This record gives sequence, structure tokens and C-alpha cells, in this order.
Amino acid sequence: MQLPADYHMHTPLCRHATGEPSEYAAKALERGLDEIGFSDHSPMPKDDFDDWRMLPGELEDYLERVARARRDFPGLEIRLGLEVDYIPGQEDWIRELAARHPWDYFIGSVHYIGDWAFDNPSLISVWQARDTFEIWDAYFERLTMAAASGLFDIIGHADLCKKFGYYPKRDYTPLYDRFLAAASSTGVAVELNTAGLRKDCKEIYPALAFLRRAHEAQVPITFGSDAHQPGEVAADFTRALAHAKSAGYTHCLRLKGRKREAVAL
Ligand code: ZN
Ligand code: FE
Ligand code: FE
Ligand code: ZN
Repeated sequence: MQLPADYHMHTPLCRHATGEPSEYAAKALERGLDEIGFSDHSPMPKDDFDDWRMLPGELEDYLERVARARRDFPGLEIRLGLEVDYIPGQEDWIRELAARHPWDYFIGSVHYIGDWAFDNPSLISVWQARDTFEIWDAYFERLTMAAASGLFDIIGHADLCKKFGYYPKRDYTPLYDRFLAAASSTGVAVELNTAGLRKDCKEIYPALAFLRRAHEAQVPITFGSDAHQPGEVAADFTRALAHAKSAGYTHCLRLKGRKREAVAL
């Protein structure tokens, strides 16, 4: 069984990952992958935004480290992308980033609600102070804007709001559907991100109920481990494949030069 491409991998430039791209590539080959892609946390226009992403001046270094992995492993397809934070008002910056290099894809992720990094474990107390449904609603509102923006090829970890295991008591499926309507209008894909299995929620992003609706809405998928160390490359990909198939998927996307191709699972 061929495992799908792992399109969500980080590098030490984001300051919270370890291992050079060549080490991730070696691990990918060992695990039988034929394609991977790097998507490190993109820079913000100013250096002082926060401390878990590459700086604008490090973009060339990022390109060079991935180029080295390509030279070291010519038999492996290595794509180059970015995991870009979607923040309303930053659209021009995202377009500027897109123009800086012939990227293979952009993953759009939401890690901030207002200026609260809601998935940061050191800020978890905010979850206790606020209404869970309101947080989920605010999260999905941003995610829906990201999907509607047309700036991304893939939406990252689409139900990241479940990370710490806070679930609203109210029905939240309308939040999924609002997002999926936007996603199907622009054609953006959602990724099956296995990092959720390594968090408190102990579940792939997004949940099966979400993914079933995504399949009905004909929203395509990609796969990502969100590896922050070489040992996490393609982590739990057999589970992710089963997750995709039980939601009805028969194909996933491969991306090159921001163009897509559907391949059978
Ligand atoms: Zn990260
Ligand atoms: Fe992320
Ligand atoms: Fe990531
Ligand atoms: Zn991520």
C-alpha cells in the first residue's frame, strides 16, 4: 500500500522543530513515501510578531535547506510550501509572500483568534474563562474567511479548536457546514493532519463527522503529519488513510507549482 505524500513538515527555522530537511527526507524514504513537502511557519512582515516562525530574512535559508534535501535525495519528490497564518488584514502580505518564490502550495492555518494564540498550551487558561461555543464559532469564522480568500491550496488542521479537548455542548455542525460551503466555492483542499493524535484530543484533524460532510461537499484532501522532528514524518498515515476512506474518499491531491492533480488512495 502506497502511503500518500506528507505535505506538512517543519524545519528548525521556526524555532520549535528539530532536524534538517534532509533528515526528514531520509525518514520519508525509510517509511516508503515517494513524495513529501515542507511547509514551515511563514514569516510575518515584522520580526516582532511572535517567536515561533522564521523571520522574513530567513526565507532564502529555508529555500536553501530544502534545496539541499533535494540534492541529497534525488529519488524523492520534494515539494516546497509554507504554512501561512490566516489573519484578516494580512491578505496583501500573503500575496507578497506568494510572489517571492515559485511555491508548490500554501497551507492556510488559523492559530489566532484576535491576538490570542488559542492553541498555545501556555495560554490554555483562556479556554476556561470563555464560552467554548463562542471560541469555536470565532475560530471557524476565521477559517471560513481563509477558505473563501482564495489565497491557499490547503486548509491546515481544520478543527484545531478541539486540540485541548474542549467541545461545545451546543451543536457545532453548522460551523463545519459554513466553512465547507466556502471551501467548495474556492476549491481549496483540507488536510488530514495526524498531529491531533499526539495532542489531548487524541484524534486526527478534522473529525470523521467533519470529513464525511467535506466529502459530500466534494472538498478534496491532502495528508500531513505536521512533523516537528524527523521521527514524526508520515506518523499514523495508515490510520489517516483509513479515516479518509471511511469518510468516502477515493482520491487525494498532489500539488506542484500550485497546480493540482488527483491521485487514487
Ligand atoms: Zn509548529
Ligand atoms: Fe499549525
Ligand atoms: Fe505545522
Ligand atoms: Zn501546524
